[in-house]
Amino acid sequence: QAKSDSGSSYRFFATRMNEQTARTGQIEISLRQAIEKGELHLNYQPIVDYSTNRVVSCESLARWTDPKLGSIPPTEFIKIAEECGLIIPLGEWVLREACSFYHSCNRNGLKLDGISVNISPRQCRDAGFVDRLQALLQEMEMDPTRLQLEITESVMFDDQRVNPVEILEAISALGVKISLDDFGTGFSSLSYLKRLPIDTLKIDRSFIMGLERDMDGQALVQAIISMAASLGIDVVCEGAETREQCDLIRSFNCSRIQGYYFARPMSGVDFHAYLGRMNGIDSVAAKAG
Ligand code: C2E
Ligand code: MG
Ligand code: MG
Ligand code: MG
Repeated sequence: QAKSDSGSSYRFFATRMNEQTARTGQIEISLRQAIEKGELHLNYQPIVDYSTNRVVSCESLARWTDPKLGSIPPTEFIKIAEECGLIIPLGEWVLREACSFYHSCNRNGLKLDGISVNISPRQCRDAGFVDRLQALLQEMEMDPTRLQLEITESVMFDDQRVNPVEILEAISALGVKISLDDFGTGFSSLSYLKRLPIDTLKIDRSFIMGLERDMDGQALVQAIISMAASLGIDVVCEGAETREQCDLIRSFNCSRIQGYYFARPMSGVDFHAYLGRMNGIDSVAAKAG
């Protein structure tokens, strides 16, 4: 009895494994073509200063819809791109696209302080990353101080062969800003905050979810914000979905918020319109009048 049970569950497991491997393989092939043909696009989610309601920045988020496989979430295709090395060309495309989007906002007079781009660990540790980043900034005529690279804590720990301090310092020496993404979900020692050139902490959405009723959560978020302030590090709270959450965050002396409460990630065209409403001439005139 037990034997046949484990046999069938093994077969079930093996089938699932094969299905997963097949999908991964399919995604890899399609993704390679999509990158070559320029079929990915970026969405943009505003980062708002809640004390002034001004959009200060935005995060670029990769999107991909395959004709056959349909829309594939970035968490899935980025992981595969990391594993097969496609993250290098994909990541460069994202950087270039984000820089040109930043220019397009400013050309329309919709001043943004900067734009954020997610960088995956493998991309960041790739030999020559910093040199290529520097060349790209020149080619795109991008003011480095307007670019924020979002990295996760795993950059520091995944690979013992590279020294994260050196890489981040080289990035920072270009003038580019560094955000620690999904802060609080990794296992990094807080001493990193002292040793690394981190400009911004992005407190992970899991801390903001249900914040209204979570007293321990509130204590944690408040402590992270005041710790960051004493270290001279900015904070962005991610994933705020309600007004109550935003009010709490503001009461903890953090005004930069990103979340569905303000807007979901949207197309470039929609973001221009959103920015026009929030930061544009009309809202300036409305405030003055
Ligand atoms: P992330 O960098 O932490 O990005 C924030 C994610 O949280 C986005 O998911 C965003 O849509 C979502 N989010 C923002 N506010 C809210 C909210 O109020 N409620 C909820 N439920 N979700 C919210 P998305 O776009 O699906 O991206 C997922 C992850 O995929 C990103 O997490 C990032 O790690 C990765 N990713 C996306 N684009 C890129 C890229 O161009 N390069 C790299 N390396 N990774 C990327
Ligand atoms: Mg991010
Ligand atoms: Mg995040
Ligand atoms: Mg996240």
